[in-house]
Amino acid sequence: MTDLWKLSAHQAHEGLREREFTAVELTESVLDRIERVEPRVHSFITVTADLALEQAREADVKLGTGTATPLTGIPVAVKDLIVTKGVRTTAGSKILENFVPPYDSHVYEEMRRAGAVMVGKANMDEFAMGSSTEHSAYGMSRNPWNTDLVPGGSSGGSAAAVAAGEALIALGSDTGGSIRQPAGFCGVVGLDPTYGRVSRYGVIAFGSSLDQVGPIGRDVEDVATMLDCIAGHDDRDSTTNPEPKPDYRHYLGRDIRGMKVGVPKEYFVEGIEPGVRARIEEALKQLGALGCEIDTEVSLPSTEHALAVYYIIAPSEASANLARYDGVKYGYSDRSGSSMWENMEQTRATGFGAEVKRRIMLGTYALSAGYYDAYYLKAQKVRTLINREFEEAFKKYDVLVTPTVPGVAFAAGAKLEDPYAMYLNDIYTLPSAVAGLPAISVPCGFSEGLPVGLHIIGNFWDEGRLLQVAHAYEQAAGFANQLPEL
Ligand code: GLN
Repeated sequence: MTDLWKLSAHQAHEGLREREFTAVELTESVLDRIERVEPRVHSFITVTADLALEQAREADVKLGTGTATPLTGIPVAVKDLIVTKGVRTTAGSKILENFVPPYDSHVYEEMRRAGAVMVGKANMDEFAMGSSTEHSAYGMSRNPWNTDLVPGGSSGGSAAAVAAGEALIALGSDTGGSIRQPAGFCGVVGLDPTYGRVSRYGVIAFGSSLDQVGPIGRDVEDVATMLDCIAGHDDRDSTTNPEPKPDYRHYLGRDIRGMKVGVPKEYFVEGIEPGVRARIEEALKQLGALGCEIDTEVSLPSTEHALAVYYIIAPSEASANLARYDGVKYGYSDRSGSSMWENMEQTRATGFGAEVKRRIMLGTYALSAGYYDAYYLKAQKVRTLINREFEEAFKKYDVLVTPTVPGVAFAAGAKLEDPYAMYLNDIYTLPSAVAGLPAISVPCGFSEGLPVGLHIIGNFWDEGRLLQVAHAYEQAAGFANQLPEL
């Protein structure tokens, strides 16, 4: 069988189970695809071909002994801030260019326990700061739908890999939109789970009160399968939910008749591209036809403050988290100075990129004595207001629906010189991230020939219902597993 890389993970699982092909053959097909398209897409910082084949051979044994899971033998791309023992993990930064972790992250352990195969470490904006992968120290990734355009970010490599057939599923991370925005730009499905649903153990930190790992896949079913694999309590991350997690695949295929869908009007103001608005309106009609009750008069007035809140809190936490990169403990070290202090300074000056330095300065400023109350504390208070508004909304609605991004993928370089224009990419994904709510982006058609994402926000811990709505929509709309010509 040829072109196995075109299969979704659940289709591939069927084939593996029925012995139509082996995990090694599937992995070879994906590695071959990587070889062919990677020069144009650059989804990966590191391709782990030998390791992948070794893991695929193990998967074939597992498949033979009847201990396989739905992920056994499935080729996965792993965002390069997810720590993998013995495999270089850079977080897209020069400061970690030679960092080979001595341990595994929780999510990678879980993925391996399930028998998944890692084909490579996906490209990303440095320390997940960005919306385009242009802040990667290893060169940007390209959008598989049009390689002149960005794939989105920061998990742009993960989303591009899935859309380009260089992986069947990927792991990304979302702090303010980094799974959903690139999923939207690349025409794939991306889920940001509730904060605390997935362990952050071994995930290189950006904004610790916001960071969350989640799946990117070709369809909702694959995303549910991966969430089933990585979610749940972990003793090594005290913010994970101690309750047993539900079985997410269970929610697929259930009808959504009678569900209450709220459409917050603050998300449909100036700046939204007409093609995006049209696709979202069609999607709402589709949800209506599936029996949902749509209310377009919902108001979440604090929405407009989410961007400001995020760009105080995330940089503040980043400035603390990134203090550890000093060239002494691990990673890159610039010894051109004449004292320890000078070497530290040099390491940070030459090891971090411009965006990271900008965030460290912003965060240090916001946390400094005298400004702490005015900025950080104020931001935390507004964060509480945003939370409360969502809590109120979820008393009335099962899910909230918005666009994922105001526009479609933009040209490389278009927003690089204007950080604020870049930050505006996340205006629709930031509010739920600030609140810690789960949200998913599902393809809902095209504008100017480029994918548009439908953003569905759920209540805390309610990923099940989110997946149920997303799956019902996807099945009716028919945009699942559409791959670009490349
Ligand atoms: N684009 C946003 C930022 O630059 C969000 C990134 C993310 O979610 N990691 O911070």
